[in-house]
Amino acid sequence: MQDCIFCKIITGEIPSQVVYQDEKVYAFKDIAPAAPVHILIIPKKHISSLEDLGSEDADLMGHILLIAAKLAKELGLAKGFRIVSNCGDEGGQTVYHIHFHLLGGRQMQWPPG
Ligand code: C5P
Repeated sequence: MQDCIFCKIITGEIPSQVVYQDEKVYAFKDIAPAAPVHILIIPKKHISSLEDLGSEDADLMGHILLIAAKLAKELGLAKGFRIVSNCGDEGGQTVYHIHFHLLGGRQMQWPPG
């Protein structure tokens, strides 16, 4: 998608610190980390948010969660971690290309703000 910042990150038009990629998924360090480990995991396919998913995206979403768990392990988050996907304005979403935050390296609090 032409004006999507994350689509531009996937193509390399906007630089990022990539930590993993395959034919379907791209993962990179969040530019403003909210925890010692803060990775964004995104599909290479442009999907705006969780509410725009179709049933055809089920395998892709499962793949992303498996990658999240694999990265958490590789990054040493043995004590625990958090996966977050903010959806819509009230959900705190600021970039409308679906993404999953992988956060770890500190004690998480609940409820989130
Ligand atoms: O869930 P939300 O939409 O707010 O998350 C967007 C995330 O994208 C933020 O954590 C922000 O720091 C990150 N970001 C980034 N690189 C950019 C623009 C935004 O890592 N160039």
